[in-house]
Amino acid sequence: MEKPCTSCESCLMPFSKDPGVRESDRYCSYCFKNGKLCYEGHDLKEFQKVCYESMRSHGMNPFKAKFFAWMIRFAPRWKK
Ligand SMILES: [Zn+2]
Repeated sequence: MEKPCTSCESCLMPFSKDPGVRESDRYCSYCFKNGKLCYEGHDLKEFQKVCYESMRSHGMNPFKAKFFAWMIRFAPRWKK
C-alpha cells in the first residue's frame, strides 16, 4: 500500500510547511509552478544549490538550509 504523499517528491519539504498554493499533488509550490517543474535538470548537486540559495533568500539560517539541502538526496525524485 502506498502511503499518502505529505511532502514534496523533489525537495522533501512537508506540504504543511508550504506557504504557497500547490499546483501538483506531488510537488511543492516552489518546485512546481505554471504547470511544470522549476528545475527540470537531473543534476542533484545543482538542484541542492538552487534550493540552498532559495532557502537562504527566505531568511533561513545557513546550518538549517545546508541540512535541508543535504536531505534532498533522499527525495523520491532523486532516487536512483
Ligand atoms: Zn519541492
